Amino acid sequence: MKKLLALTAIAAAVVGAHAQDFPSKPINIVVPFAAGGPTDRVARDLAEALRKPLGGVSIVVDNVPGAGSSIGAAKVARANPDGYTLLLNHIGMSTIPTLVRNVPFKVETDFEYLGIVNDVPMTLISKPSMQANNYKELSAWIAANKGKINLGNAGVGSASHLCGLLFQSATKTEMTPVPYKGTAPAITDLIGGQIDLLCDQTTNTSPQIEAKKVKAFAVTTNKRLTTPLLKDLPTLQESGLKDFQVTIWHGLYAPKGTPAAVTKKLNDALKVALKDPDFIKKQEGLGAVVASDGRIEPDGHKKFVNAEIAKWSPIIKAAGVYAD
Ligand code: ASP
Repeated sequence: MKKLLALTAIAAAVVGAHAQDFPSKPINIVVPFAAGGPTDRVARDLAEALRKPLGGVSIVVDNVPGAGSSIGAAKVARANPDGYTLLLNHIGMSTIPTLVRNVPFKVETDFEYLGIVNDVPMTLISKPSMQANNYKELSAWIAANKGKINLGNAGVGSASHLCGLLFQSATKTEMTPVPYKGTAPAITDLIGGQIDLLCDQTTNTSPQIEAKKVKAFAVTTNKRLTTPLLKDLPTLQESGLKDFQVTIWHGLYAPKGTPAAVTKKLNDALKVALKDPDFIKKQEGLGAVVASDGRIEPDGHKKFVNAEIAKWSPIIKAAGVYAD
């Protein structure tokens, strides 16, 4: 018994010592979508802003795309809980459990919550050759093309999938879903005209809208945006889709069981990063709002995700939009 207690004490001391040294080697942030997309973009900007408050350590973004973020999130849920493997994921953390059956991780119990990073509106965009030039014309085009419309998404359970499902339900139009491993490949095909429509975060649609490589029709927030590029776009609500409102948020997670001393260091660093003027400027330029409320604390983050699960679950079920 004494020997066991001694071993436990040694193990605790080793974990404690490691926690004290943290971070002493590169940290991986898993992005569960393809490189070049909105989640990837946030992660790369955040990695840069986290570097200094984490003592200059390298922070590597590791893209593990597939299954609307489930594959990457499951990888982090099973990773060594030492703080060196983190997950940056979006609203999917709260919608996947309802949207997709048999998710390979438990959002509520498999992660340590490190804080919310930002909120990002979405935009409804189309291929550049779309004949419609405003939402009214687009809705006439949709009515005239029922059964022939290809709607892209970043995988079953992704934010664009959620937005697209809600859009089909609100417009009472079935469209053909075309899944990708992230927004980046979906936008490439939208620009090429292989798909017709996509609903996705402003972080990635803004540069394409500005370059006129895609057409933009509406935003998914309940108020118009103030970003100069997007301020003239109507909301879907004012375009006649009552109650249509989706805003995407991103949060940072560690595997469950990561020592408290390590999660504290990570949360402290995150709070410094969220005040970094360069990070804020980059995010705001892309229509995102950097988090500064109680959700940047682990407790606030967890409460928020639970509230989002409670909010989205009945909406998804009522819209009858879950995927098998
Ligand atoms: N924006 C994507 C989504 O629809 C994912 C991404 O590539 O960031 O979930």
